[in-house]
Amino acid sequence: MARLPLAASLVLSLIGSASCKSNADDTTNGNVSDGPAEIQERVDATFAGLALATIANEQDNREALLKHPALAALVRHQQMSGNPSPDKEQILDGILASPWNTKSAASNLEYLRDREPELWEAALASSSYLPDGALIDGELFLIVGYDIGVASPPDMVLNVAHQNFVDEPAEFAFYATHEAHHVGFLSQREFPDLAHLDDPAALAALIAFSTQMEGMAVHAALPAREAANALGVDPDYAVYTDKEKANQTIDRYREVLGLLDGLDQVDGATINQVLGAMSSGERLWYQFGALVARQIEQESGRDALVGTIADPATFDAAATQLLAN
Ligand SMILES: [Zn+2]
Repeated sequence: MARLPLAASLVLSLIGSASCKSNADDTTNGNVSDGPAEIQERVDATFAGLALATIANEQDNREALLKHPALAALVRHQQMSGNPSPDKEQILDGILASPWNTKSAASNLEYLRDREPELWEAALASSSYLPDGALIDGELFLIVGYDIGVASPPDMVLNVAHQNFVDEPAEFAFYATHEAHHVGFLSQREFPDLAHLDDPAALAALIAFSTQMEGMAVHAALPAREAANALGVDPDYAVYTDKEKANQTIDRYREVLGLLDGLDQVDGATINQVLGAMSSGERLWYQFGALVARQIEQESGRDALVGTIADPATFDAAATQLLAN
């Protein structure tokens, strides 16, 4: 079997994480704020504003939305996640039809209106965990109705209607750091081939890649989360403070990887089980990856951790060491 739809959809959470929730009622337009020109260019709230007005039947912005570079970024995100021919109209229909809370989305756009410089700074903060030459040179699009945040190099996308941000608007900055780290990481590394995940070596390579990419992105937002006393808001960060949770995560990651032991070919159910546990299910590659990143930084320093982007074998060796303890 070449490509498995369920596996591919699970892999979507490689570079994003959830789907939207909530109910619809009110709207507003989301326009960019006054601020330094460069920042105005980099944070673009127009897609969210156009979508909100369309949902409220104030304007029919469908044509503008179809041409919007934020939608092009979502198409690229789907392609990178294993969907070879994503349908732009279908993605837009999904966004416009999904039952998210437009009132909360509007109030989050308002919240961000004067904070675009901070949001872009939070994206750039990821560069302290990226090598020289890593590029964060696209746009940060604010959208509604798709995942929570996704990286789609050179751009990144945040969903202002997502319940996480409705509950905690301060999370925008941490997610900007996370997604921007992916953009920089992917400017240095090629995303693995998802076409032959029934080959145990290909599946293991995807897991190793994602453990490093997601773990480092989680870790990149650690300093800002610590400074804001916000580790407790995101369950991925419990491994940093809860030794028992960290040990459980290591044990579970080892156990799930062990499902591939001795296999010549991986059946579809096993692929889904493994990727489900690693990604949106138990979030093992985020949390175990963060532990590996922390260990490398503690033992060898931040430059050494950053160096593993060019030399992934070093990251894999640290992971193996953590699993052996
Ligand atoms: Zn991620």
